[in-house]
Amino acid sequence: AEAHVAAVADARALNAFLVETPDRALAAADAADADRAAGTLKPLSGVPLGIKDLFCTEGVETTAASGILKGFTPTYESTITAKLFAAGAGMLGKLNLDQFAMGSSNETSAFGNVISPWRRGDGGNAPMAPGGSSGGSSAAVAARLCPGATGTDTGGSIRQPAAFTGIAGIKPTYGRCSRWGVIAFASSLDQAGPMARDVRDCAIMLEAMAGFDAKDATSLDLPVPHWEANLSGDLKGKRVGVPAEYRVDGMPAEIEALWRRGEEYLRDAGAEIVPVSLPHTAHALPTYYIIAPAEASSNLARYDGVRYGLRDLPDGANLQEMYAATRAAGFGAEVRRRIMIGTYVLSAGFYDAYYTKAQKVRALIARDFERAFGACDVILTPTAPSAAFALGEKMADPLAMYLNDVFTVPSSLAGLPAMSVPAGLDGQGLPLGLQIIGRPFDEQGVLNAGLAIE
Ligand code: GLN
Repeated sequence: AEAHVAAVADARALNAFLVETPDRALAAADAADADRAAGTLKPLSGVPLGIKDLFCTEGVETTAASGILKGFTPTYESTITAKLFAAGAGMLGKLNLDQFAMGSSNETSAFGNVISPWRRGDGGNAPMAPGGSSGGSSAAVAARLCPGATGTDTGGSIRQPAAFTGIAGIKPTYGRCSRWGVIAFASSLDQAGPMARDVRDCAIMLEAMAGFDAKDATSLDLPVPHWEANLSGDLKGKRVGVPAEYRVDGMPAEIEALWRRGEEYLRDAGAEIVPVSLPHTAHALPTYYIIAPAEASSNLARYDGVRYGLRDLPDGANLQEMYAATRAAGFGAEVRRRIMIGTYVLSAGFYDAYYTKAQKVRALIARDFERAFGACDVILTPTAPSAAFALGEKMADPLAMYLNDVFTVPSSLAGLPAMSVPAGLDGQGLPLGLQIIGRPFDEQGVLNAGLAIE
């Protein structure tokens, strides 16, 4: 723990941590020593984790990287962090992210972007984005500041940053991990999950995080399987689906080659590769970028300058003016864009044309997966259509940024478990990730296929 505390302090230039809590990490290490002496070691005894700053942590400032929550210190602990600490883990600090988890590069943070440890901008190379929204988590694990971190994934925010930084990350089935105490972005999509160096560490962390929680109405009331004990890279008898529709226009040859390599690894592990079809894939991105902003506009209505964090009260302002001033000052540009899209698609005149239509397409996308899983056990795709891009490269063009989510969003809309595993480097020496998508509740199948690849 001491080495990790020192590494975090040394790596401040990456801007991965928003708050450092070295005492918490050291206290957990002491507790682990005592547990070891008493023979009562727990699954994560003494492990110093980074916590994405979307998880409320009692007594430790939690901002979702937004100015509007500056100074907000929760009086309660999220279920996920409480479970991790109960399993013996310590907290090194709170990790940077895209503001309210809206973004794919960590550049929408109100507290500055995170720099990928893979390319920091020295030696004449442009500094790279660590992916997003869990960019602090991916950078911290990739830079070996912590062995694991929590992430959240609404449309890819665990998987894409994991791919960009050469680490592993799994978004479990919707409902596996409690959303209680996780600052809400789009509630029907938000899922927490682990980000770590490899598949096994993800399995260990996920076991500590998952489980029924009566405080989350969408929590799955299912026992937590022994994912780590049942890990196996032997895929004999398993069928791996490769969806034709993910071969999108303009996909670099390198990503295509990565995908073929992934098939090879899985075949070597005993699996059979079968073509599958997910015909509504092309509609997933527009559907996601209607549903997610709609839910966000509703979830973010609570930040009114009265209950949390920032209040901007100009001289002589009335209540309405205080709301407007607070929200204008506290929300960043991307968050305001999402609120405007969300209120538009939910407005009386456009609700049926956009929101209702998007919900119908969402059902079609889920049905595509159901059909495909009639012919295969897991699905293999690239995690993202490119390796990491440079900081600043896509910030001026929100559509280009949204397009980066093309492979991660469909499984989010369907609520399926999906994982990114590191799968080698591109020609520039940047990491690439492969995605495994599984049937509902089949995290084991996803983890096993991931193990066969990494
Ligand atoms: N990049 C996607 C978005 O901006 C996904 C973010 C996420 O999963 N939190 O909405």
